[in-house]
Amino acid sequence: MVNKMLKRSMIAIAIIATILFISLLYIGFKPILKAELKGQDKTIEVFTEYQDEGINSCYGSLFLGCKKKPNIEVINNIQEDKIGEYEIIYKVKYKKKETTLTRKIKVVDTTAPELKIASSELTSCPNTTDFDLKYEAIDNYDKDITSKVTKTIENDNLILSVTDSSNNTTTKTIKVNYEDTEKPKITLKGSNPTYLYVGATYKESGYEVTDNCSSDLQDKVTVTNNINTSKTGTYYVNYKVKDAYNNETTVTRTVKVIINQPTVSKGNKIIYLTFDDGPSYYTNELLDVLKAYNVKATFFVTWQFPGYASAIKRAYDEGHSIGLHTYSHVYSKVYASVDAYFNDLNAINDKVKNIIGIDSKLIRFPGGSSNTVSRITPKIMTVLTGEVQARGYHYFDWNVSSNDTATSNSATIASNVIKSLRGGTYIVLQHDTKPGSIRAVKSIIEYGLANGYTFLPLDESSPTAHHGLNN
Ligand SMILES: [Zn+2]
Repeated sequence: MVNKMLKRSMIAIAIIATILFISLLYIGFKPILKAELKGQDKTIEVFTEYQDEGINSCYGSLFLGCKKKPNIEVINNIQEDKIGEYEIIYKVKYKKKETTLTRKIKVVDTTAPELKIASSELTSCPNTTDFDLKYEAIDNYDKDITSKVTKTIENDNLILSVTDSSNNTTTKTIKVNYEDTEKPKITLKGSNPTYLYVGATYKESGYEVTDNCSSDLQDKVTVTNNINTSKTGTYYVNYKVKDAYNNETTVTRTVKVIINQPTVSKGNKIIYLTFDDGPSYYTNELLDVLKAYNVKATFFVTWQFPGYASAIKRAYDEGHSIGLHTYSHVYSKVYASVDAYFNDLNAINDKVKNIIGIDSKLIRFPGGSSNTVSRITPKIMTVLTGEVQARGYHYFDWNVSSNDTATSNSATIASNVIKSLRGGTYIVLQHDTKPGSIRAVKSIIEYGLANGYTFLPLDESSPTAHHGLNN
């Protein structure tokens, strides 16, 4: 009985042992595909290179260990230059075994924007919030975010702050010095210098005031002057203004009071023959004609033909008036500036003074005072017509033109003059560079003398026949 039970037990144990043994073999030699991440999920800074640590993987069995390297396919679409969340997928495969691992990568921006400011201090008008400040905000990721800069004022500090799209903030503090040391600016309207005839009334042309910190100074200007229009001379108008912070400005306008000469006297039958642009080859011929009739005329001379300069001496010696026209007669040079005009005038004056020994105070502007050729320097005639008189010159235009520049026919030229004569005072424009004009003089003189005119040379008291200005 006992033997029988023992035998059964032995059999049972043997079966169990066999099962265990087979199971052990099965487990021990079963193929295994193992894979695990090296390292963790990662967070990297944008624009830095991601270095993948890879995975550990193995194909084998419990008893035999790692025998083979499985195939690993890595799917990596990480963009290092773009903020975001990415995944790296590792597909591990060997024979029919397959497994997948995933690693999470975050690309982030933790760099604060750069706030560039020209200076850490600024000076500004008191009571202002409008600061003149140049700044720039550049972020490594968002690029130019200057428009996102906010400004707040705390006490005497201006605080600039800017935050990028990843919430990184940069703040800068600028010390504000509230002060005004800048003077107001007064801009005069009208011309400076201004010219007035004796006896005329000075009329203020006004001014404009601007200031960096005050906008209400226009009515606070004090204007004073010492003008005496009954006497020729140079006078001054002073304009003075102070801003709210005691900065004071004074500007001055010069007013020159000049002699008022009659432009044309009426009723006297007088003819002033005037000849411009010479002396020339033809001047002596003209002087012969004038001498024959004992008529005195006026020559507004130039230095265009210096070879005939001796005719200036002859004309002066024979009782004619010598006036100054221009040295070069080149409009673009003469009217380039006020200084250029006077340089040219002084040059011809020097030549004439060498020849006749006196400074002539009689002048005629190239092109006349009504010329438009001087517009290369706008408003220059307004200044010149005043300034020449302030310097003691008398400038003459004309009220009869012979039109001798339009025709060479002496009969036409004579007729142009004669038909304009109606019993008054006339300043006639001719050119002693034009033979047709010179040969018209005889007829003009004969008509004038026959009709009761007196021919006179111009002097400093003569009427001036001033034209209106067109500059
Ligand atoms: Zn001329």
